[in-house]
Amino acid sequence: MAEITRDELRIINETYSDPDERRRVCEAVESGEMLAYIIGKWFFYRHDFVINRDCLVPRPDTERVAEEAIALLPENGSFADLCTGSGCIGLTLLDERKDCRRGLLIDLSAGALDAAAQSAKLLGCNERAALVTADILSDDPLGDEKFDLIISNPPYIRSADIDTYPGLAAEPRLALDGGRDGLVFYRRIVGTFAKNLANGGAFVFEIGFDQADGISSIADENGFDAKIGKDYSGNDRVAVLRRRDSSRQ
Ligand code: GLN
Repeated sequence: MAEITRDELRIINETYSDPDERRRVCEAVESGEMLAYIIGKWFFYRHDFVINRDCLVPRPDTERVAEEAIALLPENGSFADLCTGSGCIGLTLLDERKDCRRGLLIDLSAGALDAAAQSAKLLGCNERAALVTADILSDDPLGDEKFDLIISNPPYIRSADIDTYPGLAAEPRLALDGGRDGLVFYRRIVGTFAKNLANGGAFVFEIGFDQADGISSIADENGFDAKIGKDYSGNDRVAVLRRRDSSRQ
């Protein structure tokens, strides 16, 4: 039984005028359904994003990743957002940085990209957004294009932890499972797509609260330095990786 939050109650009251419907939705949320999937949208940073059951529901902590990307993108820059899901990070960056030339948003799930495409239209940034379906663990959808930022909030929960983690049962396993040690995607992204960073470019990652050491080792092994930032609760959550040479000036 999940306790309904004040925020959820407010959204339910705003969305449904019929008291019977309100009660039904409250019961569904109390029994563990995610309100975002019921209403088909969720708030992130400064806007509502279209959400379906193929998307992870955007978390407030992920706003710190978006903030970092907004601050770091050079003028008229470009970026790739790998495992974009609902597109909340990449589309927020396009929306907040109107000078941004191009954002390439990639996900394995066509369903998630469908939600992202709808949000891109609603935000009016669809002309600068390219949405591509690809499995970044096996494909190389970036080719030889260079980007100022490569951003990712990949699946990072250890496979063995997913079923015991509180509050994740309703969301797609595909969006959460980061392999045996939770670091599979970071290893692949840094190892394969470092070639796609423009001069002075950076990786911006969301990481798990206990993955600062893991991401720092991966950075180190690939010739990068990692700077770790916190989320709203003071946990490690954001990692910015820069080439060791370009940070030593
Ligand atoms: N932030 C999610 C959680 O811990 C996990 C997201 C992810 O795997 N990228 O609830």
